[in-house]
Amino acid sequence: MTMKIKKARGTRDFLPEEMWFRDFVEKKIIEVFETFGYRKIMIPTFEHSTLFKIKSGEEILEHMYTFKDKGGRELCLRPEATASVCRMFAEEMRGEKKPLRLYYSCPMFRYEEPQRGRYREFWQIGIELIGPKNEYSDAEVISLASLALKNLGITHKLEINHIGILRNLLRDLGVDQKLQSRIMTLIDKKDPSLEDFLKKNVKKDWEKILELIQLRGGKEILARATELLSDHKSCLLSIEELKRILDILDYIEIEYEVDMSIARGLEYYTGMVFEIKAEELGSQSQICGGGRYDSLIEILCNEKVPAVGFAFGFDRVVEVVKLKGLNFPEKRLDILVVPVSEEERKDAIKLVNSLRNNFIGKLSVTLELMNRSLRKALEYANSIKARYVIIVGKRDLEKGKVTIKNMDLGKEEKINLEEITNFFKEA
Ligand code: AMP
Repeated sequence: MTMKIKKARGTRDFLPEEMWFRDFVEKKIIEVFETFGYRKIMIPTFEHSTLFKIKSGEEILEHMYTFKDKGGRELCLRPEATASVCRMFAEEMRGEKKPLRLYYSCPMFRYEEPQRGRYREFWQIGIELIGPKNEYSDAEVISLASLALKNLGITHKLEINHIGILRNLLRDLGVDQKLQSRIMTLIDKKDPSLEDFLKKNVKKDWEKILELIQLRGGKEILARATELLSDHKSCLLSIEELKRILDILDYIEIEYEVDMSIARGLEYYTGMVFEIKAEELGSQSQICGGGRYDSLIEILCNEKVPAVGFAFGFDRVVEVVKLKGLNFPEKRLDILVVPVSEEERKDAIKLVNSLRNNFIGKLSVTLELMNRSLRKALEYANSIKARYVIIVGKRDLEKGKVTIKNMDLGKEEKINLEEITNFFKEA
């Protein structure tokens, strides 16, 4: 009996060509992270569900894969990394010198409706900068995201805001924490029911919220926001903070747009927030999201430790690189060794073994294992774009030689067995 079992909805298989491409893109991102002095960490695939109930927000909770283990613990597959990294910091890294510059690259799990650019298992590559609370660290994180995309040749649009402006306004208007989060979610989703919701739930000046979130543009927008919010001191402080970050972005020539409607779905943000979009992707254009969260770690370890970070939606970044047709090196087999008949197999195995030992990590070397004739083996080598075929035949062996065929040039030459290592060193 055969049983046809398909992959679970929202998951994907990655074939070797795809993985070669994804690894290449990942490397280009990580080399920029490392240039900035970030160090790699790994977080667990599952955590206690409570970790994400603290402050990851309604949107994340709704989509979590939650389950009970055999010990009755309520666990979940991680839906995002920031809460896990903060938990890890609180549990393992409090004694370390700050700032901590950390990065991760791993899959996240969210029970969402799958569509192009939206999966139930998807990869995020992100960073967290733990310790400092100033505009330089905010600007560092933004410039890191921007340079990583530049390193991949991705043109992108950076949109930036300060969550304190909206939150402080809502607080001044008498909106409690829970309702604030509800309103932030509606703003984040650009939900058309926002206006009615505000009318019903915010007693006074609710129009100010609508006016504020419509502000979008260059630095001059800050002057308009300052005018609009002149009676709200704490909002003005947030605007000032945002201005200091924008000043640095101006020095280092990073282009941005201020968008006062950026609310971010995740509830832990307290300061600057940003999103990066790539227009090639249409409706799922957001490839990066991040911001400052100064109170999440405190909840986990009773020590006030500010932090800022972001995550790339790696699958979407890969998609943009593909759509842009970026040049990247082709993965090819270097050498296929083919015995002409079973009689030469032992010599062929010895040759493969010696090449592998001499070129670890430098050349890929395989032995023909499907009992193909020489003609079929050459056809196969062509089809997989092998660079060289080494033909091990009886007559050559009698003279201590083998035939090396350069598949790109179609040229054959006979080489002494002792000279093979040198031949490939030079090639
Ligand atoms: P978030 O953690 O929600 O701020 O998301 C950060 C980035 O991850 C987004 O900008 C997206 O690029 C990506 N992302 C979020 N959810 C998904 C998903 N279901 N499938 C693929 N990418 C996603």
